[in-house]
Amino acid sequence: MSDSAYVFQGNSLVVPEETSQLEEAIPVGTIQQGFGSLDIVSIDALYEGGTIQSVDLDPKTPLPPGWRTISMRELVNIVAMENMVDGTGTAGRLLRAYHISQWRRESVFCGSCGSRNQDTSLARRCPACGRVEFPRISPAIITLISNDKGQALLAHNRNFTPGVYSLIAGFTEAGESLESTVKREIREEVSLEVRDIRYQVSQPWPFPNSLMLGFTARHSGGNIQVDGVELEDARWFDPDKLPLLPGYGSVSRYLINKWISGEFSS
Ligand SMILES: [Zn+2]
Repeated sequence: MSDSAYVFQGNSLVVPEETSQLEEAIPVGTIQQGFGSLDIVSIDALYEGGTIQSVDLDPKTPLPPGWRTISMRELVNIVAMENMVDGTGTAGRLLRAYHISQWRRESVFCGSCGSRNQDTSLARRCPACGRVEFPRISPAIITLISNDKGQALLAHNRNFTPGVYSLIAGFTEAGESLESTVKREIREEVSLEVRDIRYQVSQPWPFPNSLMLGFTARHSGGNIQVDGVELEDARWFDPDKLPLLPGYGSVSRYLINKWISGEFSS
């Protein structure tokens, strides 16, 4: 693999302005021309051998001419979901580098005794008390609920872009199974009961440090009542009368597209 690295600044990727393949790492020579000598971090690439390199710029570092930032959230909307599911692809390497870069910022000191942590190949270890800290990965579920009329439930969250509807999602709580999370989130947010909960697909979702687990489920009881806290509206939609949907890089869009093509009807 060539000597290249991802450059991050806060929640954004930093790239030369002319770059079109945003999920590709940048040659280290190019980075040094722009920023001079920087601290490059290497992490295990997991699959193809070798390492993934990254640079974490201080938020106050001004960008040299010819460089720009793109927010990671914006980026995952334009990188195809298939590329992210396959962790061996360039998008998988970028998401791994970003997740580790965020974690390193938050794990400088031991959470138990406050000493400065040391790096090992996959973790950080406290030299004073021996506590080992691994990158945190927080499971979150997202579920496509369908009913007997061939409709799917889509909801508008108050944090979404106006008019955009998506699937019911939420974080798994401590001590909870994924199936319980699916049932609880659906009950809390729209007051529905579901059956036939089936796992479909997963995707790294580093906003922050999540692993998004996509499920399908069938409506088994109750009428829609939105919680009024997170959700502003939720409705059953026919596949040919859909509202605005989330970007192509999301698990949500991936599941909705599979449902439209009839893959989940049984
Ligand atoms: Zn310690």
